[in-house]
Amino acid sequence: MTVKQVLVTGATGRTGSLVLQKCRQLAGYRGRGLARSRSKVEALFPSVADFYFGDVTDLSTLHPAMLGCRALVIVTSSVPKRKSTSGDQPEFEFEPGGSPEAVDYYGHCHQIDAAQAAGIEHVVLVGSMGGTQANHPLNRLGQVLIWKRRAEQYLIESGLIYTIIRAGGLQDQPGGRRELVVGKNDTLLNAGMSPTIPRADVAELAVQALQHPEACNKAFDVIAKPEADPPGVITQDFMALFQQTRPGL
Ligand code: NAP
Repeated sequence: MTVKQVLVTGATGRTGSLVLQKCRQLAGYRGRGLARSRSKVEALFPSVADFYFGDVTDLSTLHPAMLGCRALVIVTSSVPKRKSTSGDQPEFEFEPGGSPEAVDYYGHCHQIDAAQAAGIEHVVLVGSMGGTQANHPLNRLGQVLIWKRRAEQYLIESGLIYTIIRAGGLQDQPGGRRELVVGKNDTLLNAGMSPTIPRADVAELAVQALQHPEACNKAFDVIAKPEADPPGVITQDFMALFQQTRPGL
């Protein structure tokens, strides 16, 4: 059996690190990471082996990491930082060069272009719900989700096989304990459920998408129902979940 090499970007992030760990545990797959910071990799992983260092805002740094890969999982994201102001309301800003336009749009486009140049077949993109809502708090802050959605459109138009996972609010909770619910175009934001999902469940979905043809050329929103008491239906059949999703933005 040929081993399928997968590149995970944003591999020092809270979700990306889980995706890479899961890839590395998967029979028949080999997980490679892309990161900006060697010291972060050393703190999070047993070694820097099979890591490449680059910045998604600089296309030239991405090519070496993509070589020999069959799939790419994009988990990079702009990260707002709290301003050091004395006001009651916290204010946020992006570091120079780290705007949503630079990281979430051009950074994603660079990754898609480099993937295409390297002959990568399948791109799994972890994004966020809220991109249809101009007044979403993250859109009032640098149009974060609108830039992410434009990059999703770019991926669809690239002709590469795509899976776009638009997660609800991410939680640092264990995965595999809740029922996942998929939707489209932010309707789950008004479905009467808390639109949240553990990062571990998003990471599992990303690696499941690599393995299921039903996830190919699909884009969907996803949240997790609350843990039921007694336990309800925990999502284990990912083929059935992906069969509920549809192509197109
Ligand atoms: P995160 O912990 O903030 O990680 C972001 C990653 O992106 C980090 O590894 C960071 O590297 C990397 N990165 C940022 N700029 C980069 C650049 N210029 N070049 C290379 N790497 C760069 O991410 P998360 O909160 O787990 O979110 C994962 C995904 O889910 C994102 O797409 C996010 O939009 C989406 N999402 C988030 C939420 C939420 O509630 N936070 C909700 C729904 C969806 P460093 O470690 O070097 O900083």
